[in-house]
Amino acid sequence: MPCTLIRMAGCPLRCSYCDTPQAIPTDSGNWLAIDAIIRRVRETNRPLVLVTGGEPLAQRYCIELLKQLSGLDCIVQLETSGAYSIQAVPSDIHRIVDFKTPGSGEDQRNCMQNLELLTAGDEIKLVLTSRMDYEWARDFIRKNHLGSNDIPVLLSPAWGEVAASDLCEWVLKDGLPVRVQVQMHKTIWGPEAEGV
Ligand code: SF4
Repeated sequence: MPCTLIRMAGCPLRCSYCDTPQAIPTDSGNWLAIDAIIRRVRETNRPLVLVTGGEPLAQRYCIELLKQLSGLDCIVQLETSGAYSIQAVPSDIHRIVDFKTPGSGEDQRNCMQNLELLTAGDEIKLVLTSRMDYEWARDFIRKNHLGSNDIPVLLSPAWGEVAASDLCEWVLKDGLPVRVQVQMHKTIWGPEAEGV
C-alpha cells in the first residue's frame, strides 16, 4: 500500500540485526516541527502513514505527533521496538510491537506489559536470527496464547541469517497461527538501498 514513512531519529537499543543503523544517532535526522510533518503528510496524500525509527517512543514529542496524525483521513501505524510502554499511544493508531528475540541481544528490554495493552488492529512482530530464536518465538506465542486474527503475529527472518523457506517449513510443521513476513523493500530495491 502506498505509504508515507516518518522515520524518527535516535534509538537506545542496539539490535544485532538492525537494518537502519543510520537512524540510531539522535542527531542523524533533520529537525521538523510537527506542523511541518503534518503538512508533508497531507501533501503526499497516501492511504497509509507509518511512524518508525530508530525508536519513535524514545522521543519526547512522539505521542503529540501521533495525536495529530490520528486526526487525518488515513491509516496510521506506529512501529516500535517493544522496549517502551504503548499505553499513551492514541487508540486509533495501529501499533506494531517488535518484541525482541534473544538473537537481537536486546530481549531483556521487552516491556511485557505491552502484551496486555494490544487491541484489535495491532500487530506483534518477531525478527528471527536463528532456529533458536524461532523456538523462543514459538514458546512465547504458545505461552501467551498469541496469534489471533485481531492481533496477528508476524515472524520475520533477519536478512541473510534465516532463509524464509526454512521459516515457512518450521511454521507449517508446528502449525503456528502466524504470518511470515519478508523484508519486501530489500527484495525490491536491494539490501543496500536506503530511504525506501
Ligand atoms: S530497535 Fe530498531 S532501530 Fe533500534 S537498534 Fe533495534 S532494529 Fe535498530
